[in-house]
Amino acid sequence: MSSVRFMCQRCSQPLKLTQSTETLGQEPAASNLPSAQGQPGESPEEGLTSRVGIDTEKLQDGDSCRTLPGDGRMSGYDFNSFTLLGKLGSGRSLNSIQKATRGSFDFLSGQEDLDHPLCEDCTDNLLERLDTQLALTESDSQNYKRYLETKEGVSEDMRQTLQEELKNAELEEARLLRELEKVEENRERAAAALREAQAETEMLDQQERQYQRDYSESKWQQLELNDELGSLDNQLRYAQTQLDWLEKTDAFRSTFAICHDGPLATINNLRLGCLPAVPVSWNEINTAWGQTSLLLLALSKTVGLEFQRYRLIPRGNRSYLKSLTDDAVELPLFCSKQKNAFFYNKLDQAMMAFLDCMQQFKEEAEKGESGLFMPYRIHMEKGLIEEPGASGGFYSIRTHLNTEEQWTKALKLMLINFKCSLAWVSLRYFQK
Ligand SMILES: [Zn+2]
Repeated sequence: MSSVRFMCQRCSQPLKLTQSTETLGQEPAASNLPSAQGQPGESPEEGLTSRVGIDTEKLQDGDSCRTLPGDGRMSGYDFNSFTLLGKLGSGRSLNSIQKATRGSFDFLSGQEDLDHPLCEDCTDNLLERLDTQLALTESDSQNYKRYLETKEGVSEDMRQTLQEELKNAELEEARLLRELEKVEENRERAAAALREAQAETEMLDQQERQYQRDYSESKWQQLELNDELGSLDNQLRYAQTQLDWLEKTDAFRSTFAICHDGPLATINNLRLGCLPAVPVSWNEINTAWGQTSLLLLALSKTVGLEFQRYRLIPRGNRSYLKSLTDDAVELPLFCSKQKNAFFYNKLDQAMMAFLDCMQQFKEEAEKGESGLFMPYRIHMEKGLIEEPGASGGFYSIRTHLNTEEQWTKALKLMLINFKCSLAWVSLRYFQK
């Protein structure tokens, strides 16, 4: 006969329903339905194992004629709700059988999360799972029963004690919560303080680095200044040495050397004057006049004297005097090589003016207790220098109406007077 084909809803194996299954298609009479607990006298296991009466066969051949499974949702798998109802009655159509079977599977699927039908293997697995669940549930039930008995066995005192303990524990919990809040607040404060401290540390670090740079800069400057100071110390010591040496040095004696041993007196080895036997160039005489005028100017400055009537201008072999009264006339204290009456006259005027200045210095220097003493008197008006003593006389400083010997003698006496002035000024001003 023809058989209805379904697929296992778990493993998708095709199922072949046997005739006994097909009998399910018959609408069972309500009076014939068994109780959900299975047939009387049957253990639950027997009820389960008698399952279904659905003999399913796996189709080993890939039968192409497959029927779609029932389209209803399935849940529930109460095996005991299936009953074998004997032989399939004749006269039933395939359609009604399919319809009845589908109805059965829909009903089963509505009872559980699982869809039906299932193959034999999947059914076995499902049963094992349900057994395990049942065992666990029974164990839980027994535990609950035991707890209930234990609770009933607790005395009133014990309960009160436990209640108090519970209350205390709750109070303790509340206290600990408050403490936890405080600790949390403290932790936040500490974190804020830590952040502040870190910021401050960063700032201080920056300051420290800046100070370090400043310190290095200052140290560098100090080293440079130390070097400079050392250099200045050396310079100072050198200057002090020079100063000591200069203080011991007589500037006038070092600068001006006057010698009068021979017939001609010299100043700085320059002869001032000339003799018929000892001709001297005018250049040398002019230069000697330059040295002599420099000496007189230095002496006058030492005693703080400003000359009247003339200004002395030492210029080597071109020295001259400038009249302060007579329209600034320049009087040359030198002579050219050519013997010229005009130049001699000018030279005579200059030498007279020089003698005037020398007389002014003499008068200034003779003031006071330790005044200067010049051995040879000056007669400025006549331009004479007087040599005292028996063999002495008057010697004119002019060249006009004069001899070379007389003139040279006058110049020599003048230089001797200057030599005395040098000694005096050295004692008075430079060896204090
Ligand atoms: Zn299966």
